Amino acid sequence: MAAFCAMRIELENLEGGKSDFAHVYQPEELNPVDERVQLTEPAAVTGKVRLSGNEVFVNGHVETRAQVECDRCLKTVELPVSADFALEYITGAEYEANSGAAELTEAEMSVSVFDGEVIDVDEVVKEQILLAVPTRMLCREDCKGICPECGTDLNAGECKCVKDDIDPRWAALKNLT
Ligand SMILES: [Zn+2]
Ligand SMILES: [Zn+2]
Repeated sequence: MAAFCAMRIELENLEGGKSDFAHVYQPEELNPVDERVQLTEPAAVTGKVRLSGNEVFVNGHVETRAQVECDRCLKTVELPVSADFALEYITGAEYEANSGAAELTEAEMSVSVFDGEVIDVDEVVKEQILLAVPTRMLCREDCKGICPECGTDLNAGECKCVKDDIDPRWAALKNLT
């Protein structure tokens, strides 16, 4: 089906209700992580799955490098990604039974609902990478961005448009004298 072997943990195959997992994803297996984030190096993930009643606990660590566009100049910025995660899953049936009864606590709100059979590690890894990448990304703190008129990278120098914007006013003043 899929071109790459996806990593999924089937809970009915968990020996003794728990298991360790480790996998190295090639960048092309996960790219694009989303429309702004791409991996530039393989992503190594390690973790543990533990089944407890109707709940599943997934703990792990993912490490890779990603590239993101600068919000202002669109230049590619590369950054290391290193994230620990601790997730909790419950089945949809369990979730509905609980949410009807009492108000959900803060901790329960962060619980993910799943089908009760499979944990999709690919999705977990993608999500964790996105959470680890800052939502606002600048190539440098004082990035000047690009000119909206001509697309010139203003970090490299000013373009003509900036001056043209100012010129008409000076030109008008000149005409008055
Ligand atoms: Zn920039
Ligand atoms: Zn310009």
